[in-house]
Amino acid sequence: MTTAGTAQQGTADFNPEVLRSRYRAERDKRLRPDRNEQWVEVKGDFANYIDDPYVAPGFTRAAVTETVDAVIVGGGFGGLMAGARLRQAGINNLRIIEKAGGFGGTWYWNRYPGAQCDIDAYIYLPLLEETGYIPTQKYVFAPEILAHAERIGSKFDLHKAALFQTQITEMRWSGDEGCWIVHTDRGDVIRATYVITASGPLNRPRLPGIEGIGSFKGHTFHTSRWDYAYTGGSTAGGLTKLADKRVAVIGTGATGVQSIPFVGEHAKHLYVFQRTPSTVDVRGNRPTDPEWVKTLKPGWQKRRIENFNTLVSGGHEDEDLVHDGWTDIIRSLRTTASVEAQGAKTPEEIAARLELADLRKGSQVRARVDTIVKDAKTAEALKAWYYMFCKRPTFNDDYLPTFNRPNVTLVDTNGKGVERITEKGLVVGGVEYEVDCIIFATGFEVGTTFTRRAAYNVIGTGGRDLGQHYANGMKTLHGYCSHGFPNHFILGLSQNGFKANFTDMLGEQVEHVVGLISDVRKKGMTLIEPTAEAETAWQGVIAEKAVPARAFLAQCTPGYYNAEGEVDRGVFLETYGGGPLEFTEMMKAWRADGQMKGLQLA
Ligand code: NDP
Repeated sequence: MTTAGTAQQGTADFNPEVLRSRYRAERDKRLRPDRNEQWVEVKGDFANYIDDPYVAPGFTRAAVTETVDAVIVGGGFGGLMAGARLRQAGINNLRIIEKAGGFGGTWYWNRYPGAQCDIDAYIYLPLLEETGYIPTQKYVFAPEILAHAERIGSKFDLHKAALFQTQITEMRWSGDEGCWIVHTDRGDVIRATYVITASGPLNRPRLPGIEGIGSFKGHTFHTSRWDYAYTGGSTAGGLTKLADKRVAVIGTGATGVQSIPFVGEHAKHLYVFQRTPSTVDVRGNRPTDPEWVKTLKPGWQKRRIENFNTLVSGGHEDEDLVHDGWTDIIRSLRTTASVEAQGAKTPEEIAARLELADLRKGSQVRARVDTIVKDAKTAEALKAWYYMFCKRPTFNDDYLPTFNRPNVTLVDTNGKGVERITEKGLVVGGVEYEVDCIIFATGFEVGTTFTRRAAYNVIGTGGRDLGQHYANGMKTLHGYCSHGFPNHFILGLSQNGFKANFTDMLGEQVEHVVGLISDVRKKGMTLIEPTAEAETAWQGVIAEKAVPARAFLAQCTPGYYNAEGEVDRGVFLETYGGGPLEFTEMMKAWRADGQMKGLQLA
């Protein structure tokens, strides 16, 4: 296969076997014995990293004691859509519990300069037709997304249901009362027939476990709690208070790529500490064309969402409505693969051709670095040597040019990370870089236990603890609910179909859960719980379908997709490996059948 592949490429510098070997070597040097345990949890001395910088301190309110139909955990897009759909289903007595000071979830917290959604806004922002809103550009920035979350809240009258700045401390099922009893840090005691948890997969910031991290005497913060009082400016930039500051950014993932150009523009000096480079492809943002808006017919958003989902999931559409970096990558992979697939007969041969297409795309993205970054050594260090979907691909037109600035230095750590943090700065390769401020663009906990990320315990029937139930990974029926935890539903990354457009995935999950609750209520019942047998059978389906993804992730450079190389704990192995299109069809058929197989109802 290798020789055939080489012969078909037709370019002198493209040698798949050399690339594979380079990818393996780059991965191997990044594998660490501490794998997913390499992070510092934001508690104890580090708890201040998750303080909310966007609210005035000292908030108090009277404790609430009440009984509602449903408690929704989280006021991000998942929670908002759950609230909206429950209202539409006539389930009106709701409580949304949210630790932030307002709606928005991810977009409430992530206000770093340049924060932007890299998915087409016309498909990412939910309920556009229902709220009558059209995004201002193809890729919108965080403030516009946050405003849209508030818009949904207003449209569906959800503000009055919300308890902001409130954290759940425990939820416990009462068999006698047939409801959940939810306790919070504000002294609330709320009884709820249903609980829908939409607390997000990337909700808990993490810090790198670098020796000496607590000893630095300068200023520090995490990107998801950006300290504008220190930097000056806003999400739109203008970080003028950095003019006399030497700043370090640790982390070059999707967040680092978006924020670094703004820091580089203003800092006296910026040191970017890189462990693994991101792939950085063309952004190409543009304002919304009013003439295009005039052509939109009712149902346009759903059609556009489905079109994108089909294309990025490997299906066929005559037209590519979104036509962006995501659909381009997949189309380019498929087109190259289909050209190369001529003559390929077995699934293995086709997979091999797809791999070649991926290698070629990677070469193209690396070549882009050379066209932009002037210093040859820096350009070389900024090239990513792994398959395109081993890490989240990024799209940005300002990141690479930032390294041409005289006040910006890339400190490449050759895959090893920062060695040490001292009172004055950071050490790499025995050199100490003195700085005034360290910004951690080091991401969020993934693959840690559900209750650690939720930061409260869920106690089901017979005193079962959900954290223990999930100690070795999720155990659910269809990703939504678990045996021993009646009327407790989970939205987000779980044992169901993963979609690149996260809000589409959440919307589909909400439709399913709220639809299920409504169907059961129509039967005159309220209690929904999967049987132990059905839950076990679903684990079998997930494990069987995970085989191809497992093989792919095992050859990937470490990251949160593969639990830093601890592949079996990787979050994507828990999702349904047959893909979102297959999962959606399966769930539609399951509901249409009306028998609710695998559930016990009462
Ligand atoms: P990531 O987890 O993707 O990145 C963390 C970064 O920190 C990596 O570059 C990592 O290097 C680096 N790092 C960790 N430890 C060290 C160390 N000891 N020394 C040096 N570097 C270190 O977090 P992000 O916040 O960037 O992104 C998280 C996710 O959020 C994205 O994958 C995406 O899903 C989402 N996101 C989405 C956006 C959108 O537009 N929709 C925008 C921004 C984020 P290494 O790679 O080697 O681990």
